[in-house]
Amino acid sequence: MARYTGAVCRQCRREGQKLFLKGERCYTGKCALERRSYAPGQHGQGRKKVSEYGKQLRTKQFAKRYYGVLEGQFRHYFEMAEKMHGVTGTNLLSLLEARLDNVVYRLGFASSRAQARQLVTQGHFTVNGRKVNVPSFLVKPGMVVAMKEGSRQLGLFKSIIEANASRPVPKWLELNREALEAKVLALAAREDVDLPIEETLIVELYSK
Ligand code: SF4
Repeated sequence: MARYTGAVCRQCRREGQKLFLKGERCYTGKCALERRSYAPGQHGQGRKKVSEYGKQLRTKQFAKRYYGVLEGQFRHYFEMAEKMHGVTGTNLLSLLEARLDNVVYRLGFASSRAQARQLVTQGHFTVNGRKVNVPSFLVKPGMVVAMKEGSRQLGLFKSIIEANASRPVPKWLELNREALEAKVLALAAREDVDLPIEETLIVELYSK
């Protein structure tokens, strides 16, 4: 499974916004973006005029990095979004939110999407009672995502769940905290996605 392996905080500094890639550290004063809020590299502190294309590109890069998806797969989601009914930009975000690694993160079963991806790959979760170890698996309304029986007692999960208990769960997921499982009620709507971007810029970029 291909994934980005470079310095993660550098990605936030490049985008000028928090991507929340390092779990709890992202919410503390140790966050690299809070300490150095300029782009990395020799010219990172220079002022640049951003073209329309530049804005579109940066928006796409931000969304891609936020969900930890590489270019080919992101483009594939866009093509799927175009074929769906409704607004392409919103469809794109709904698809990205429906990834199993994102759902695990949204439920507070992982501190970051990167950790969620690793935990899914290790086989700690089931969908409709069957083990699924593919982070890009797309959940659908009606499906039930659960922590595997054998994983529930692991100290790792106890501390993760405790640390993330106050993180709100989006309303399209119905979490049962006792059972450590959640029902997918719907695909995420735009107002359910806390991504600070104008997704129409991504549509414009790929429609050229
Ligand atoms: Fe980004 Fe988190 Fe690193 Fe801050 S600590 S720069 S939010 S990955």
